[in-house]
Amino acid sequence: MSAAPLNNDGHLGVMLTELRLPTMKRLAAELCEQSDREGWPARRLLEQLLQQETAEREVRRFDRHRAESGLDPDKRLSTFDFAAVPTISKAQVLGLVESRQWLDRGGNILAFGAPGGGKSHLLSGIGHALVDAGKRVLFVRCTDLVQRLQAARRDLRLPQELQKLDRFELLILDDLSYVRRDQAETSVLFELIAERYERKSIAITANTPFSQWGEVFVDAAMTLAAIDRLVHHATILEMNVESYRRRAAEANAATLRSTRRALAARPSPDQGPPPPPRSTGA
Ligand code: ADP
Ligand code: MG
Repeated sequence: MSAAPLNNDGHLGVMLTELRLPTMKRLAAELCEQSDREGWPARRLLEQLLQQETAEREVRRFDRHRAESGLDPDKRLSTFDFAAVPTISKAQVLGLVESRQWLDRGGNILAFGAPGGGKSHLLSGIGHALVDAGKRVLFVRCTDLVQRLQAARRDLRLPQELQKLDRFELLILDDLSYVRRDQAETSVLFELIAERYERKSIAITANTPFSQWGEVFVDAAMTLAAIDRLVHHATILEMNVESYRRRAAEANAATLRSTRRALAARPSPDQGPPPPPRSTGA
């Protein structure tokens, strides 16, 4: 005999909804029945129900953190080819995700290199690994975040907006170099950097070296102050390799060429010679 749905016995289901215990609500009828049938001590039933709720709550929390992170689900460390970037050490990157004390003191990661070298993929992979470890991470395009902060400043709620970002242990700002110098824009970026300094971590990808960051911030003093704060506790990843996309495209093209050559040299066994060209009659 199957357990009666909780809704039919009134109160219990309603109370579990009220207390936001969806897993207990889903399993209560079945586990109560099993408990009656097998003569469980009351404590065992209670433990079973609470254990299930706690376990599923943990899973829901991870799912929520993953969803809010803005991380591309495909860009993980497991799909990152470290051999393609000899300038960085896989051990160093794995060290960052395994021993995470740097997050506690607001350590930063700065990834530099030409477009296509894998900066966004690598930082996204680090982000996923940190979410796996229970951390909260936000991956955003730097220009998008700057616009959001700028709008907040216009509405006189910049401090609240910065405060909201505090819930993320790591903020990944993708493509800092695309932010353009404009007084209002770049000073909000500076405020963000200053606000998080030695408290909460920032990771940045940039196509341009520090020497060109003067293009991003308002003036030389602000540029230096921003760089100073970012590098104080930072891991710098130099990723100046040729574009992975271009290399992959070239490798594909080469494979295609050699496949074509091989096919052209070897007549297909189950097809006769190619048919003669048809006259169009035109
Ligand atoms: P960047 O941010 O430096 O411009 P991306 O991380 O966007 O480069 O990389 C460009 C594309 O190439 C992406 O699709 C990325 O997944 C892929 N890619 C780059 N480097 C690697 C790598 N080392 N291993 C696997 N895929 C890579
Ligand atoms: Mg990128």
